[in-house]
Amino acid sequence: MRRRRQIKGRKTEGGLLELLYPPVCPFCGRVTAEDICDECRKKLKYIEEPRCMRCSKPLRSEEREYCYDCERHTHVYERGYALWMHCGDVQRAIYQFKYHNQRIYSRFFGKELLSRYGQAVKRWEITTIIPIPLSRKRRRIRGFNQAELLARELGRGLGIPVDAKNLVRVRDTSPQKKMDARGRSSNLKQAFAWRGKSRVFGNVLLIDDIYTTGSTIDAAARVLKRHGAGKIYFLTISIGQGY
Ligand SMILES: [Zn+2]
Ligand SMILES: [Zn+2]
Repeated sequence: MRRRRQIKGRKTEGGLLELLYPPVCPFCGRVTAEDICDECRKKLKYIEEPRCMRCSKPLRSEEREYCYDCERHTHVYERGYALWMHCGDVQRAIYQFKYHNQRIYSRFFGKELLSRYGQAVKRWEITTIIPIPLSRKRRRIRGFNQAELLARELGRGLGIPVDAKNLVRVRDTSPQKKMDARGRSSNLKQAFAWRGKSRVFGNVLLIDDIYTTGSTIDAAARVLKRHGAGKIYFLTISIGQGY
């Protein structure tokens, strides 16, 4: 009974969203019947091999295994993937998604992540999908957490439970853009806390919109591991250039 109600609720929400926001291409904003217009589909460049075996940033040469960043820093997480580089149309689409209330884009991004990396997630034997949380304040201002919307799409597609409640952001960290790597990780120390009554069980897939240096994923992974998690993996829509 409860299950049936949930499914019904989801449908209603979807219909309402489509009514409020006619489907537009996330990359150019033109109205389109598809998830993405033909022109942008042709232009879209996915991150391909050779790429970093840790964070998936593209590498210049096949001989290297890790990017400059991952060669110098040990990460807490195991491995992760992003779809595209964070620049141009992708950057604009994510900006619209987060700051212009285009939460409908989560469907397209979720679908892309599923089709490119669904198999990888299955190999990783994930027990729980956890979105990187926003602080309560930021969540209130934005009205939604973009990472949570993505996590729900993936959870639905893969049949893996999503926990968007127990990992919380206890410190509202200042925008990360202006900081170097060291500033970022000290800024993120104690940014997250685990509020779950029980310990974390099994391997966790963390979801975020952008991966920059990995310090956010690492900070969250550290907290989860301290509370019993096994291996930590991540998926993001985009990834920044190497630092
Ligand atoms: Zn387009
Ligand atoms: Zn890397």
